[in-house]
Amino acid sequence: MKIALIGNQNCGKTTLFNLLTGSNQKVGNWPGVTIERKIGYIKDTNYELIDLPGVYSLSPYSNEEKISREQILESNIDVIINIVDVTSIERSLYLTTQLLELDTKVIVVLNMCDMLDKKRISINEKKLSSMLGCPVLKISALKRIGIEKLIKQIELNDTTKKIHIYSDFLEAKITKVSNELNINHKRFISIKLLENDFPDFNFNQLDLASDIKDIEEYYGMEVMEVIASERYDFIENVRDACFENQAFSETFTDKLDRIFLNRIFAIPIFVIIMFLVYFLSVGVVGSFTVDLVESGIESVSEFLTINLQNLGASAWSTSIVVDGILAGVGAVLSFVPQLIILFILISVLESSGYMARISFILDNLFKRLGLSGKSLIPFIIGTGCSVPGVMATRTIENESERKMTILLTPFIPCSAKLPVIALFSGFFFRNHAGIVSASLYFFSIIVIIISAIILRKFVFKGESSTYILELPEYRIPSLRYTYRDVSDRTIAFVRKAGSIILLSSIIIWFLSSFSINFKYGVDINESILSYIGRAVSWLFYPMLGELSWGASVSAIQGIIAKEQVVSSMVIISGLSDGSTNLLFNPNGIFDFFTPASAYAFMVFNLFSAPCLGTIGAMKKEYSSGKLALKAILFQTGLAWLLGVIVYWVGNLLWV
Ligand code: GDP
Ligand code: MG
Repeated sequence: MKIALIGNQNCGKTTLFNLLTGSNQKVGNWPGVTIERKIGYIKDTNYELIDLPGVYSLSPYSNEEKISREQILESNIDVIINIVDVTSIERSLYLTTQLLELDTKVIVVLNMCDMLDKKRISINEKKLSSMLGCPVLKISALKRIGIEKLIKQIELNDTTKKIHIYSDFLEAKITKVSNELNINHKRFISIKLLENDFPDFNFNQLDLASDIKDIEEYYGMEVMEVIASERYDFIENVRDACFENQAFSETFTDKLDRIFLNRIFAIPIFVIIMFLVYFLSVGVVGSFTVDLVESGIESVSEFLTINLQNLGASAWSTSIVVDGILAGVGAVLSFVPQLIILFILISVLESSGYMARISFILDNLFKRLGLSGKSLIPFIIGTGCSVPGVMATRTIENESERKMTILLTPFIPCSAKLPVIALFSGFFFRNHAGIVSASLYFFSIIVIIISAIILRKFVFKGESSTYILELPEYRIPSLRYTYRDVSDRTIAFVRKAGSIILLSSIIIWFLSSFSINFKYGVDINESILSYIGRAVSWLFYPMLGELSWGASVSAIQGIIAKEQVVSSMVIISGLSDGSTNLLFNPNGIFDFFTPASAYAFMVFNLFSAPCLGTIGAMKKEYSSGKLALKAILFQTGLAWLLGVIVYWVGNLLWV
């Protein structure tokens, strides 16, 4: 017995072939062409198996198609196994409709059935079998499911029923032609003859010109078009009748995407969603909780001051606890309640599948600017964390695109940046925190786009690749997952406050309480920190409008942990004059800043060098410390420039 495997490219023919034959196979080339020819015997039988080249139809346009067609028509094949990739049925069935016109027995094998659940497709194979007039089997060549059934089906002595899929007029013509032929595969050949696609066959008695003309007049199209369009009508009917659940879940995601990824509304919807996220967490909740938590911290701080003094603690040890640790860590902790709300909203957005779409929207925006590339995956991952995002750039083959993406991924507002945005806005713009944080979020999106344009134009020139990504389906987030996620993030935030920020706070307290000759209790303007700050404060002059050594050292601290910027501002202001401790007197912030310089300062901190983990990942992916340093200098330089621009534009607007 001779059996042929036929199907589209990548439908799993070779996988099935290897599985059925084991090691019992010969590999060579088809005569005259360099297309792989594989022949073998099914294990423990004398059934010969031929792996035909992957084709989408039996028209003789390519070498692959010619070989497949010749084999099927001319060698005595007893069974055709038509492999159909279940995940792309509509494309696959076109070939099937042609195979079913042959006289040979056909078995349709639905391969990759292990993917059905994942793709949420459900197939009614009985119905499919009755519509196609041949046996239909579900298998998975990879997972070795359904193989014995397939062998039994091969051995069964049955024939394939001829199905008639064309409209009556065409069907009558086909029957008429095939009645005049006395050869194998009459139906298949009649159709091909009517399509005028058989130059090398000699049917000299047959004159089809008038039949062809009839069909063309009746349908107003060329015969080939009529046949193709009726085949697709049939495939559509089959799909509607046999592929049930696919419609449901696919269109659910599709329907939502039609709204969320709509060409016009995608961006406005995105803006509204992110605005609501910040408005609800930082704005609404923040306005209740920050004062509450702060007054708690204030009571603790008064309590500790009195009791430590009563216990006879020295002035400096009281100060390190109250002005250093409590002020620094407390400044960050007072934002925990609103951050929890932010974490809940972000977690829901992430697990529902919406976050992934934000990168998709960005990518579409990029495309319109001629920037599209394979940056999408790093960006999607980067909405969670830049470190794996930067690592994901490995999938980009185009080197200059890859380098650019490594540089841009840290600009994507990662989930650690969202609370920092909240923290900064809550701290510097208490009464307008919601709107300021939302604006800062979009500012970072705009910066990504602008820097992409600049980098593409001047630094990383070259072609951009296109990439089509399958987005995850929308899901209703589970309560348990959200709970876990939010508590993980909250614990991580608190832990950071209790470790890095605690340590940095002590160091800041120390540096600002001691003078260069290590005398305690000097005026803060004589402290070690003030000297460090003054050495760099000129750098920040253009965005602050004054030489502020306090803000300057805080900004540098941001490289260790962005949250530390807030802590260190609180410590410095508290030590400089008890009455303007920013933690308890938020209005005092504008003794240090104007709204314009505060916003500029936040912008600088958001875009300057990313966290240490990301710097490490960048260095690794560039496999060059020099290049990573350049990238970080670019980021910090850009941050500085943006800060300055914001300050000057802000001054024009606010004054
Ligand atoms: P061919 O081009 O038709 O010869 O297809 P291959 O046999 O080379 O398979 C193409 C790809 O599909 C390979 O990556 C296979 O591992 C994969 N594949 C084949 N069969 C299955 C299956 O049943 N399930 C899944 N999930 N993948 C499969
Ligand atoms: Mg193959």
